[in-house]
Amino acid sequence: MDIESYKLFTLEQDMRKALHNDEFFLEYQPRVDTKTGKILSAEALLRWNHPEWGRVSPLEFIPVAEESGLIIDIGEYVIRKVSRQLYSWKEKGLNFVPISVNISPLSFLKNSLVSTIEEALEENHLDAALIEIELTESSLINYSENVISVLKELGSMGVKIALDDFGTGYSSVTQLKKYKFDVLKIDKTFIQAMDKNAEDAIITANLVQLAHGLNMQVVAEGVETFEQFYSLRKNGCDQIQGYLFSKPVPNSVFEQKLLIGNLKPQNIKEENVFKGLRKYARVEFPYPLEADMTILELNHKSVKMGSTKILIEDISAGGVKFVSKIKLPVRKDIILLIETMLLGENLAFTGTIVRKDEISDTLTNYGFQFILEEEQRAGLAKTLDQLQIQLEQNPSVPKSRFIEAASSHLNFE
Ligand code: C2E
Ligand code: CA
Ligand code: CA
Repeated sequence: MDIESYKLFTLEQDMRKALHNDEFFLEYQPRVDTKTGKILSAEALLRWNHPEWGRVSPLEFIPVAEESGLIIDIGEYVIRKVSRQLYSWKEKGLNFVPISVNISPLSFLKNSLVSTIEEALEENHLDAALIEIELTESSLINYSENVISVLKELGSMGVKIALDDFGTGYSSVTQLKKYKFDVLKIDKTFIQAMDKNAEDAIITANLVQLAHGLNMQVVAEGVETFEQFYSLRKNGCDQIQGYLFSKPVPNSVFEQKLLIGNLKPQNIKEENVFKGLRKYARVEFPYPLEADMTILELNHKSVKMGSTKILIEDISAGGVKFVSKIKLPVRKDIILLIETMLLGENLAFTGTIVRKDEISDTLTNYGFQFILEEEQRAGLAKTLDQLQIQLEQNPSVPKSRFIEAASSHLNFE
């Protein structure tokens, strides 16, 4: 097994236990009025604090939960948790807002969804309009009839329904005839392409018109820049959800935002800058260097597994900065081995991850610190000095290899 399959394997095994041990929790991402910045609602996003892997992204564990069927229990867990949270906000006298919950299509195939929601609302004395269900477009394509009948039942109870990730499935527009959705959420890939692509901007503008014609509210997801925000505002998009206004935040932070009630766009570029390992002189490669990484030790126990490809961006006597598709936690008790070839020489380093920065949904930038004796470190520093000179004199030598490595092993989106 390589690191990725090993991780998925352990996630699947640990998930049921995690539900009981309360390793899951929710974060809330506000949705604001495009014109005023007023918080109108928020999306509940599930987080898993795994004892060994650290924070695991839902992009990793939701597919595993769908495969094992545990997604149904997870959906019910989220509904109950959100309902209790709404009750507690009400008790505190906070000026709170409706919360939207992501529900897997598998939950719609089981009869318990409607009763779970009914019970949760009743127990917490909540109005049905305080809960919104988000359903992805692809769910409609695969399970259409069952899903629609449950949607109708929920709709008649007064639960609002949003069509999520709109624009990512095929024949998107025909989905709109199947049910009278209350909210249309335009997917972030569309929104983020608007800056670069005139066509995407035109499509978005027309989607807003179309949705309004069908009496739906339009939410733009994944708004990260002022440009995207201005263009959406110009085109009459109702609500914005994205890092520009707020990342998903834990309850304590969300409550503070509710107290203020309004959000302003933030400059998010700065916090994304990755601070490398500064103490030692770094050699930066003109193109990332391919390497193999494996886990040697986990939780003070030796493990044996296959390797995963990574790309090294720079190296110093302190460590390397690399990019990978795999999500690993910052932990001193996960000892990794990185092996690569540099100018005809095999190099192997053991060390730990000391920093991480997610650069996209799929890619993460890591700071990896070598475990080295001072003597070895001094030797490495010398080798790196020579490497720097060689790179300066003849940058074309490693270049072709770098390009090849980058294009064959990782898809940079
Ligand atoms: P989604 O429903 O499309 O949720 C929105 C995702 O976009 C969230 O990712 C959010 O953190 C991210 N996001 C929000 N604003 C921005 C932005 O400005 N830029 C970028 N790049 N991303 C932004 P997250 O929390 O990682 O969740 C990923 C997906 O996992 C969700 O996508 C949803 O499909 C699924 N998920 C999360 N929680 C649950 C849950 O409780 N149940 C189910 N069934 N699925 C869930
Ligand atoms: Ca969603
Ligand atoms: Ca979405």
